[in-house]
Amino acid sequence: MAKAEIIIGSHVSLSAPEYYLGSVKEALSYGANTLMIYTGAPRNSFRLPLEKFRLEEAFALIKKHQLDETKFVIHAPYILNLADKQKEDSYAFAISYLKEEIIRAEKMHIPTIVLHPGSHLGLGVEYGIKNLCQALNEIFLEDSHVKIAIESMAGKGNEIGKNLVELKMIYDGVSKKDRLGFCLDTCHLSDAGYQLENIDEFLKMVDETIGIKNVLVLHINDSKNPLGSHKDRHENIGYGYLGFGTLLKYIYLPLLKDIPKILETPYFNGLAPYQYEIANFRNKEFKPFKD
Ligand code: FE
Ligand code: FE
Ligand code: ZN
Repeated sequence: MAKAEIIIGSHVSLSAPEYYLGSVKEALSYGANTLMIYTGAPRNSFRLPLEKFRLEEAFALIKKHQLDETKFVIHAPYILNLADKQKEDSYAFAISYLKEEIIRAEKMHIPTIVLHPGSHLGLGVEYGIKNLCQALNEIFLEDSHVKIAIESMAGKGNEIGKNLVELKMIYDGVSKKDRLGFCLDTCHLSDAGYQLENIDEFLKMVDETIGIKNVLVLHINDSKNPLGSHKDRHENIGYGYLGFGTLLKYIYLPLLKDIPKILETPYFNGLAPYQYEIANFRNKEFKPFKD
């Protein structure tokens, strides 16, 4: 019997001159079978026309290597803040940006967009969640198969979505639930205070709130800080407070096997760590790769 293949990749870049073709090549160079991209810079919302992206060549390479595009992920820029409405212009802009991102995602054959839920800027969790849900309801008025996965946050500053209860509140406030899902980030969860080591216990809580079936993406990161620190500083796998053994459980648990696992760990000495981290997960053994 063929060994069940894990679905693992990392954040990869999308930049000149090869754009999406380059993203796919980068993922392959890490031994990955999925990927996550920002459709431009993560910190701004300027986006090139898709004609530049070398999509056809990328699709051909994806096909050649039999990668499953339905496991690929786009990450929306993190400057969007749908949780605050004080600046009407920024709120309206973020909504129209996401409508366009959904169209880009369709054309790139990528079914999932990860979105940070945003910050209430001191006006309270309920205020933030209400604004986010209103925005999502407007975005989902236009039909598409593309889903938005709200990411669990570390609870830095006034971030909303810092625990499962808040994610569930977001779920409850969205009408088209078939368009909504979640992205669980292991660094953020630990920083938010969730003990991930007992995987059955943690996933039971997930299932009782947002539902495991609604988890569309897992961000697999170690954390530079201890449980409940609310810092959001990612660490390389096996070098932080979560540790290799705990994260390995999330890679191989049969219940999570269809969910793409995406690494967003930091570069070391200017080098991407992903080929080492992916190899360690495939070998189920932690081999140090930096000093
Ligand atoms: Fe994120
Ligand atoms: Fe993340
Ligand atoms: Zn983070």
